[in-house]
Formats: sequence, C-alpha cells, structure tokens
Amino acid sequence: MTSNAEVIVAGAGPVGLLLACELALAGVRVTVLERRTERVAQSRALTMHGRTLEMLALRGVAGRFQARGMPIPSGHFAGLPTRLDFSACDSTYPFTLFIAQSVTEELLEAWAGELGVDLRRGATLDASGQDEEGVWVTGTRAATPFRLAARYLVGADGARSLVRRQAGIAFDGLPPTKTAMLGDVLLRTPPAGRALSLGNAAGGLMLVPLGGELYRVIVVDAQDIGVPVEVPVTLEGLAAATRRVAGDDFGMHAPQWLSRFSNQTCLAQSYRRGRIFLAGDAAHIHLPAGGQGMNVGMQDAMNLGWKLAGALRGRADAAWLASLLDSYQAERHPVGAALYRNTLAQSALMMDAFDPAGQALRATLSELMKGAELNATLAHELSGFGIGYPAALLPVAGGGQACARWTGRRLPDWPLLHADGTASSVYRHLAGGRWLLLRVDGGARPDWQGPPDGAWLDTVTATVPARAAELDGVAALVVRPDGYVDHAVAALVTA
Ligand SMILES: Cc1cc2nc3c(=O)[nH]c(=O)nc-3n(C[C@H](O)[C@H](O)[C@H](O)COP(=O)(O)OP(=O)(O)OC[C@H]3O[C@@H](n4cnc5c(N)ncnc54)[C@H](O)[C@@H]3O)c2cc1C
Repeated sequence: MTSNAEVIVAGAGPVGLLLACELALAGVRVTVLERRTERVAQSRALTMHGRTLEMLALRGVAGRFQARGMPIPSGHFAGLPTRLDFSACDSTYPFTLFIAQSVTEELLEAWAGELGVDLRRGATLDASGQDEEGVWVTGTRAATPFRLAARYLVGADGARSLVRRQAGIAFDGLPPTKTAMLGDVLLRTPPAGRALSLGNAAGGLMLVPLGGELYRVIVVDAQDIGVPVEVPVTLEGLAAATRRVAGDDFGMHAPQWLSRFSNQTCLAQSYRRGRIFLAGDAAHIHLPAGGQGMNVGMQDAMNLGWKLAGALRGRADAAWLASLLDSYQAERHPVGAALYRNTLAQSALMMDAFDPAGQALRATLSELMKGAELNATLAHELSGFGIGYPAALLPVAGGGQACARWTGRRLPDWPLLHADGTASSVYRHLAGGRWLLLRVDGGARPDWQGPPDGAWLDTVTATVPARAAELDGVAALVVRPDGYVDHAVAALVTA
C-alpha cells in the first residue's frame, strides 16, 4: 500500500472524518486509516449540539444533517428535571439536533468522498513515530503489512488511541468506578409522552424514542452501580434495573444493542507532540452525559484542520505558522479540561447521589437551574456556544475597548447587506475554509495586515444592520476560518 499523503489521520470516526474533510477542503492530501471494514451500525451519540451544526453550516453542509435529524430546543445536565434551554443562545441553531451517530458518520464519509479524501478501510495501525522531517505509521491491511510516511499524523483513533500511546502522551485521570447500562430495545407499552427521565433513590433512567417501537433505555442502577464495564448486559438485567427505577419495564424485548459505559474520565496531558496531534476521544474521555464527546471532538477537528493546512501550504512566515500549530493545544486543551470537570460533576449527580443528601443536592440544583443565568451558563457550556479564544492569533493594532471585546468571539451567521442592495450572511463567505476580512464600516480602508498569503483571505464589505450598535467603532472583523473573530480593526476616526 502506498500513499502520497501530507497528513495521515488514524481513525474514521466522526472526528477523523471531519478533520479529513477540513484538510481536503484546503487542498491538503490526506489519507485516513480505519481498521473497521464497515461503518458501525449502532449509534453511541444521538445529540449534535448547536455549535457543531454551526461549524457544519460554516462549510455549507449543515442542511444535510438537519434533513436527517430532529431539532430539540432543550437538553439536560445530569438528567436533572429542569431542562437546559438553548432557545436564548445567539445562533441560528439554538437547539440540539437529535441525530444518530451512524447517520452523522455516513454523511461525513459521503462529504469526504466528494472532497477526494483517501479513506482506507480495513487498515489497522500497529505503530507510529516521527522524526524532524515527518511521521510514519506501520500496520496491516488485508493481511498485508504497510508502512506510510507523511508530514503530520493525527490520532483520531478513539479512547484507546494507539497514536497517543506510541507518542508517549499520558492520559491522566480517574479509573472507571461506576457504570450504567444501555439498551436499544423495542417497547410493547412505552410510557405516555414516549420520552422519560427519572432520578430517585433507586437510580436514574432515560428513555428516548428512536423511531417506531425502538427506544434507547439508559439505566443507572444504584444497586449494581459498581458492576465492571466489561460485564455483558442482558435484556433481563436491563429490564430488572428499569423496574427498580421506574416501576415498569415497558415490555422491553428484541434488543438491538446492549452495552455498558462507565464514569472513566481522562484527559491527554498534551494534544500535541511534535508532528503528532490528538483529537476527539483520543484526547478526552468521560461519562457520556449531556451529549458532548463527539461534539467536542468535532470541534477539535475544526480547530486543527485549517491550522495544519496553513502550515503545510506555507501560508505565512515559519515562526507565525509554528505558533499557529501551538495554538491548537492552547485553545483546545482548556476545553477538554472543562469537559472533564462538567462530566465529572454530572457523574457525581447521576451515579453517586442516591442517598437522601444526594437526592437533596439534585433537587436543589434542579431548582437553581430554573434561574435564567445558571441555565444559560450551563446551556452555553454544553452546546459549545460559550467557547471563545481570547488570545488573538494575528497582531492587533490598537483599537481600544470597542475592538477588544470582539477578540476570540464566536460569530453567529449574521445577515449581511451589501452596497449593491444584495443580501448574504457571514457563513456563506467562510465556506472555503479561508480567513475572512469582514469590512463593516461602509468601505473605509482598515489599517490592518492579515496573513501574508492573500490566497488564504477573502474580503467582504457589508453592513450588519442587526448589529450596528454593537459594531460601533469597528471598521472590520478579522474572522478565522473556523468562524471565531481573531480581532476587530478600529474604524478610522476622522476629525
Ligand atoms: C452511550 C454513549 C452515548 C454517547 N452520546 C453522545 C452524544 O449524544 N453526543 C456526543 O457528542 N457524544 C456522545 N458520546 C461520545 C461519542 O460517541 C464519542 O465521543 C465519539 O464517538 C468520539 O469520536 P472519535 O472519532 O474521536 O472516536 P471514535 O468514534 O471512537 O472513532 C475512532 C475510530 O478509530 C478507529 N481506530 C482505532 N484504533 C485504530 C487503529 N489502530 N488503526 C486504525 N483505526 C483505528 C476505530 O475503529 C474508530 O472507527 C456517547 C458515547 C457513549 C458511549
């Protein structure tokens, strides 16, 4: 097996696939190595958060996902009765999309195919390494050994990441101590309202309709909370635990998938070692609470893709490109740390709060979440809308307060009005994955220097009628390829 790849991506889960799309969009030759010969039919993730949809919208493909999913205006934190309300989030996607991970992967794989990604299924890595010039991997495909070389390697190879281990990157954290059961089962007598979320002294239960008579049942069983994650789940065991928590097993039968997951929580000590990067579950694992792992991983991929592409294409001077690659760790590791913390907090509330004190804590927090401020804080954290990157990557020339507050902010898909009377919106101008200089002051030339390579920058002049007050004093926004404002350029003050 040979390849002329500039980047090798290990793993064709959602994270590896999205990263490959981002690289291919920028014209980078990328080979994805995936040990599975077929996509997985079962879906771990069912929740796609609003920020992930925004990222897909940035590239013009969100509609494909929306067409296959269902918007849900609220989400949960630790399964508490008070729902997180996304409707107040400043986005055209103020909801979560209920979409099976298998569908997400199918759509990403199709997009990767359109972009010419070289995806090799049935290719298992068994070693990887690097030197000053590049990276190498070895493995086996169809019983034939292979060795490939490239400039960079990304480990998107999941929780047990070989790439992470071979790079000697520690995966610090907490071992699995508590587990929950999951079953995709048919229900003869589903509960009224079809969906159900319960927490009591016997444990916790979430029941979600998947279509027809098929339901996902997740049970945290206080009585069996310490069962090791390797112990197979049986239909009888799932039904008995469901009866203990909900008083009924809803006639569950014909399981399509039975599994167990744990509260193991780990974060890679570093997301990068030299020419090797980690993204997704290879970098962070945790209790799947609040539907975050895939979303955060896809956002890792989005953060890394354009930076790697910029470095490979020599889009600026070497020193700046080196700092750009460093910014992946600086920007995404803290997001992984926040994920570690919020999922650990949720595991305390979901898996360790069955006694009266724990129940009182759950009730108290649920009550507090009725307050708009706390609700919004948690909604922004779980959805990814709250993430910002407060250190500008490009040099900032003055600008004062009017400009400083824009640095690092996520840009929603604002409607734009152009001088010729036509309309567009911000994301349309980011579809190519390049930087955007959005000139908003009617054309005054901003005193600004962008990435030296003009081919990496598009310029658009427009007003933003809905944000005129917010943009007062701003001549232009310098927008990164991933839709965050790098910094704002001050309007020229004329005497
Ligand atoms: C019950 C449950 C529910 C969840 N719900 C949600 C949710 O609603 N929302 C959410 O955001 N997240 C959710 N998650 C988490 C989500 O499933 C993961 O975070 C996501 O799959 C991570 O994607 P990834 O691409 O990083 O890794 P993976 O999906 O694990 O993909 C890694 C790929 O690498 C391949 N690979 C591994 N080793 C090698 C090798 N040596 N050579 C070649 N290929 C290799 C694997 O075959 C695999 O295809 C849930 C998880 C669970 C368990």
